[in-house]
Amino acid sequence: MKRIGVLAFQGGVIEHVKKVEEQGCVPVLVKKNEDLDGVDGLILPGGESTTIGKFLIETGMKDKILELAKQGLPMWGTCAGAILLSKSIKNQGSGVLPLLDIVIERNAYGSQLDSFKKEVFVPRLNKTTECVFIRAPKIVEVGSNVEVLAQLDTPIAVLQGKILATTFHPELTSQNYWHSFFIENVVK
Ligand code: GLN
Repeated sequence: MKRIGVLAFQGGVIEHVKKVEEQGCVPVLVKKNEDLDGVDGLILPGGESTTIGKFLIETGMKDKILELAKQGLPMWGTCAGAILLSKSIKNQGSGVLPLLDIVIERNAYGSQLDSFKKEVFVPRLNKTTECVFIRAPKIVEVGSNVEVLAQLDTPIAVLQGKILATTFHPELTSQNYWHSFFIENVVK
């Protein structure tokens, strides 16, 4: 059975854990380097990217995760997780795990009050998926090696090799399409 790590410092952890279980996989709460041993994929949840990034540096997990990325560990960042994976954060340097060739802008839709839900058709999934945006970032530039999987006015889901990022929260809906895509098509 596949073991899927969920970075568990802060943010939407339990919701991802439930979805991983619903896919018939074993969720692993990841808070320190040893927790990463033997995971087949890693989810970086939404929350506050600055807080999660700080923990990644303080615990030394930043270096371990970058090393595992080199070895091909599949990863998926949702919202704050996507920010952490970005090579460039507009006006703010780079993400703590700059693995994804995109430029992202934090809180680009406005404040918490500007959070919203939207149904979006995703050709690669052949499904209309419910997308929940909470103080979401916007992907404002995409490298030529990055595949855009879903889009509103700007890309909202991108894939580069084994690194998936969504600016919304599939774990907060009753659908399983994105978790199933990550586990079946990215982790494999
Ligand atoms: N606004 C948060 C940040 O910049 C992300 C919000 C979220 O993950 N829902 O880190």
